[in-house]
Amino acid sequence: MAAPVSIAFLGGLGEIGRNCMVLEQDGRCLLIDCGLMFPDADMHGIDLVLPDFTYLREHADRIVGCVATHGHEDHVGALSFLLRELSFPIYGSPLTLGLARNRIEEAGLLGRTELVAVADGERRAIGPFDVEFIPVTHSVPNAFAIAVHTPQGVVLHSGDFKLDLTPVDGRRTDLSRMGAIASSEGVRLLLADSTNAEEHGYAPSERQVGSVLRALFADQHGRRIITSSFASHIHRIQQIADAAIACGRVVATLGLSMKKNVRLARDLGALTIPDSSIVDIEEVDKLPPEKVCIISTGSQGEPMSALGLMASGDNRWLKVGEHDTVILSSHAIPGNEFNVNRVIDGLLRNGAEVIHSGVADVHATGHAQADELKTLLSITRPEHFVPIHGEYRHMVAHAKLAAAMGVPAPNIALCEDGDVITLSDQGLEMTGRVPAGYLYVDGIVGDVGQGVLRDRRVLAEEGVVVVVATVDVSESKVLTGPEIITRGWVYAPEAEALLDEACDRVAEAVERALQNGVRDVEGLEREVRRAAGQFVSERTRRRPMIVPVVMEA
Ligand SMILES: [Zn+2]
Ligand SMILES: [Zn+2]
Repeated sequence: MAAPVSIAFLGGLGEIGRNCMVLEQDGRCLLIDCGLMFPDADMHGIDLVLPDFTYLREHADRIVGCVATHGHEDHVGALSFLLRELSFPIYGSPLTLGLARNRIEEAGLLGRTELVAVADGERRAIGPFDVEFIPVTHSVPNAFAIAVHTPQGVVLHSGDFKLDLTPVDGRRTDLSRMGAIASSEGVRLLLADSTNAEEHGYAPSERQVGSVLRALFADQHGRRIITSSFASHIHRIQQIADAAIACGRVVATLGLSMKKNVRLARDLGALTIPDSSIVDIEEVDKLPPEKVCIISTGSQGEPMSALGLMASGDNRWLKVGEHDTVILSSHAIPGNEFNVNRVIDGLLRNGAEVIHSGVADVHATGHAQADELKTLLSITRPEHFVPIHGEYRHMVAHAKLAAAMGVPAPNIALCEDGDVITLSDQGLEMTGRVPAGYLYVDGIVGDVGQGVLRDRRVLAEEGVVVVVATVDVSESKVLTGPEIITRGWVYAPEAEALLDEACDRVAEAVERALQNGVRDVEGLEREVRRAAGQFVSERTRRRPMIVPVVMEA
């Protein structure tokens, strides 16, 4: 009987972001990715959302390392938080480690964190785990799928991938290696990226975006070109630079992460732009507009990004005007559409021409679509299948594709964050649950609780009513107040009569409570909250936060 292998899903199943899972074998744990998620609009004041680290904390002494599939924030962005508490080596391609190290360095944890670079196709032992790093194509270069050769057979994790047959760097998803594993050892369990499972057909090649950009650039006679894309999309940046250089322009980067990533990628040879074609952003104003192309951050409409500041006229380096063409070489991540639209409006108001993925094919996805997912299933022929990386609907769509490709229905498991599955000689079973809630980060302090967030939501949507009263307990009467202070509740002129009435109502309630023998401050405050809350909801149909403050004379 071979030893069982289990997997705990800590994030990324049922949501886009905070991808994180733990593989367990022989009492040891291997982390695959540890990413963050950007907050929804209703998570007031929250900067980031992380996986729940409880399970990892409890198994701290068993963790032998983290394998990073690629350098996107939703796969490596939570490491700098986890590494404050735990210590383990991180394995990934040099570019992935270069991208991950920024946050780790910012957190001052680089000194005690071992970063281990691995090459395409490399196979290495990490504790008891026999891990193989298989090249895949994605919207950041040098991404990996991970094959773990376990006592229960091969567990293949696709990472984020697409099947681009003509990738910009020629580094294709290594389907032949996956096929070789399938026909020798066999794939016992496949875990694969579901992000685009609902999109039919094949994702267009990244190279097609290059042709579109070239044609667009050639059309911009006498105009300055400003582009924006993800700072980690090195292949896009390469194609923008190539198109610019082909029509006699120099490029300048704008935005801190763009500058950092371009330097990193050029140092690693992942990006080729000759020195003679790069100028500093300060030099741009001295050059004729038709000789310049700016590559900027802000493709998601972030208000404080370089492009966001251009749109509001606040960018210190660039004023956008009627001689500018702005190309948003990106697609708004769900939830960011509002900000992106606002940036487009701002740029148009300043007189610029704006080209985005809605009007020209200036973007291609980095995630496999239905036919690519089917191709992966057909090549790997997995015995068991678990869709990962996606909203629940994406995982359901992916499960259907697997069924259509012949994976027996009982062997397809729809899991969610917190589920634990175990592979044994008997097959694949759900074997438990681990904590997998959201860990909210506000600023750098981390872990804002559910309660704080609930309060913020009430404050933002309903406002606050503070009721202050001083009472004489021995005389059973209210000495001063109640005084009512409100913020964000009802408009002032209407409020006055309402407030007077509320005061009377609260005063009555407090006196009644005192006469009924309530003597403690907490008890009286409970009465105040109840009376004020009832009045407010009766009269305004609103539920503001009510803060009672009762003082004893
Ligand atoms: Zn991802
Ligand atoms: Zn990704």
